[in-house]
Amino acid sequence: MELRLTKFTKAFGPVTVIENMDLTVGSGEMLALLGPSGCGKSTTLFAICGIHKMTGGKLYFGDRDVTAVPAQQRSVGVVFQNYALYPHMTAEQNIGFPLKVMRRPKDEIAAEVRRLADLVQIGELLDRRPAQLSGGQQQRVALARAMIRKPDVLLLDEPLANLDAKLRLEMRAEIRRIQRETGITAILVTHDQVEAMSMCDRIALMKDGEIVQLDTPKQMYANPQSQFVAGFLGNPP
Ligand code: ADP
Ligand code: MG
Repeated sequence: MELRLTKFTKAFGPVTVIENMDLTVGSGEMLALLGPSGCGKSTTLFAICGIHKMTGGKLYFGDRDVTAVPAQQRSVGVVFQNYALYPHMTAEQNIGFPLKVMRRPKDEIAAEVRRLADLVQIGELLDRRPAQLSGGQQQRVALARAMIRKPDVLLLDEPLANLDAKLRLEMRAEIRRIQRETGITAILVTHDQVEAMSMCDRIALMKDGEIVQLDTPKQMYANPQSQFVAGFLGNPP
């Protein structure tokens, strides 16, 4: 489903960190929000998932204006850097939790957990608790949990930041595979230009609360429109 932000503005008290941002993510597209620390990537993501109220502007999922819709009622799956799995629950219980909260029947939950576990390829690990899983496996559980309610939009905030270099490479490819297989519209927040270039259809490069260039990875690399963009892309793959 297409996602559209128009004139998005966010202020924390007297400090405006984002002003009149327009952004459209196409249906089935994976878009990177890329930029240095503090440029406003997470703030944008929090507004989309509804954790933060927008100070101004509108947010649409498809034709539906969801600006005033509470977070729990938005069709969004979110994965954070630190996974935020429930430590006392097994992988199976973690993945199924969103449906348990919705009081879905046990057999339906079990079937959906199985479907998602197959998608993220952790079918043999469902009995384990988070502490008994590697970082990559924990991130797979988090992805499955984020997607079990069949959200319209998947939001990923630095999902690979806690992984070692080898796992990071593996999970880059895995997240992209899962996104393609499901055709879900996704936004990846990252400060890592190689990650953005290798995983996403388009990149929105941000600086100080503004999108300074929005292009495919190829176009952005071949034709950076400012010194900042050229400098930030730095040493590409
Ligand atoms: P990024 O995710 O790109 O590193 P953030 O979106 O977290 O950046 O932050 C953007 C700006 O907004 C920063 O200057 C940050 O200090 C400020 N900011 C973020 N959250 C809050 C908050 N809850 N209260 C005040 N300022 C905040
Ligand atoms: Mg952030």
